[in-house]
Amino acid sequence: MVGFGFWIDAHGHLADPRWEGQQDRIILEARAKGIHFFMQGGVGPEDWEKQRALKAKHPEHIGLCFGLHPYWVADHDEDQCEEALDLLATQLVEAEAIGEMGLDLRPHIMKDSRERQMTVFEQQIELAHISQKPMVLHLVQAHDEAIRILDLWGVPKQKGLVHSFNGSSAKAKDFIQRGLYLSVGGPVCRPDNQKLHQAVKEMPLEFLLIESDSPDQAPPAFKGQLNPPESIWEVARTIGELKSLDPLEILDITTENFRRLFGR
Ligand SMILES: [Zn+2]
Repeated sequence: MVGFGFWIDAHGHLADPRWEGQQDRIILEARAKGIHFFMQGGVGPEDWEKQRALKAKHPEHIGLCFGLHPYWVADHDEDQCEEALDLLATQLVEAEAIGEMGLDLRPHIMKDSRERQMTVFEQQIELAHISQKPMVLHLVQAHDEAIRILDLWGVPKQKGLVHSFNGSSAKAKDFIQRGLYLSVGGPVCRPDNQKLHQAVKEMPLEFLLIESDSPDQAPPAFKGQLNPPESIWEVARTIGELKSLDPLEILDITTENFRRLFGR
């Protein structure tokens, strides 16, 4: 048993500008519900700066994650990506994880960035090998491409997590076989998300993490609001129903998994 008050939100964006001025409140509210630590997902250099400032105020509760998000890569040109990768290589030592890194091949996100996303993903895998930091992967409509790139470059020793996993059982197996953890968030709480429900039922508990992806991906209970990190209780409840376990056990197990992955 982990004990009330030490659970972990494996992925969120508390430094997001939409939370400006409200961070102290949402962190306190989550802590009152036993969620003690918030792992961040990096977007780009401006976001790393904001994460640092947040950690300075809440040193015990924020885990830094620096990387170039596929959204950021899609919105910046090759030279800007190169420059940001150089900066990442020098600043990564401060962070607990590298990411968000990966591919988002939805046409409205990708625009002309397909090749650039692949290159920046590969370069971040290389940085993960060198830095020995776990990876935080963002993969949307890019399963086969991601597996091909991960196999080509090799999954680094410290492994990592696939954030907001929302795929089938077969896709879950592809990641688990490669030692990657699956972080499940708000989308699992949608009653019609049967593909993910089935995947969660079949998924071995020891590779499962839970996340808010705050302020996005609110479960139905928080619909229409900025999603606060305390919403992982909803995720734990839904996964508990799917796995026939108490939500407290889901919170305990996923927290232990997180500690194993991050060596903390
Ligand atoms: Zn995220």
